Amino acid sequence: MHEMSVAQGVAEAVLRGARREGAVKIIRINLEVGQLTFLNPEQVIFWLKELFKNTEAEEAEIIHKTIPARVRCSKCGYEGPLQVKEDPLFHQALPVFACPKCERGSLEILEGRDCIVSSIEILEEGE
Ligand SMILES: [Zn+2]
Repeated sequence: MHEMSVAQGVAEAVLRGARREGAVKIIRINLEVGQLTFLNPEQVIFWLKELFKNTEAEEAEIIHKTIPARVRCSKCGYEGPLQVKEDPLFHQALPVFACPKCERGSLEILEGRDCIVSSIEILEEGE
């Protein structure tokens, strides 16, 4: 239930942020889901909708965008996406954690590890 705990964190951040801005209603939530979180965005959204019941975000539209991974190689300096290979056993595209250029260096992950709220649209009191 990885998705549920992530959704809980996201829901708290959204509601806290919206209340600070004096929101009476949350209209839209834009999520960025990193490729390396291995989250199922549909599952995250499902839990968010559950958590938002009876809150300002009950009717919010939730939009997600997948952020591809970006890595840097400590050996050759390669910077860019991870290689992805098809796993015939699971019918899934799995990232390969080896440098696509020299295949030796250790990779530092620059992007793609987080699930974040990139923005929310709210309706303020009196609008
Ligand atoms: Zn390398």
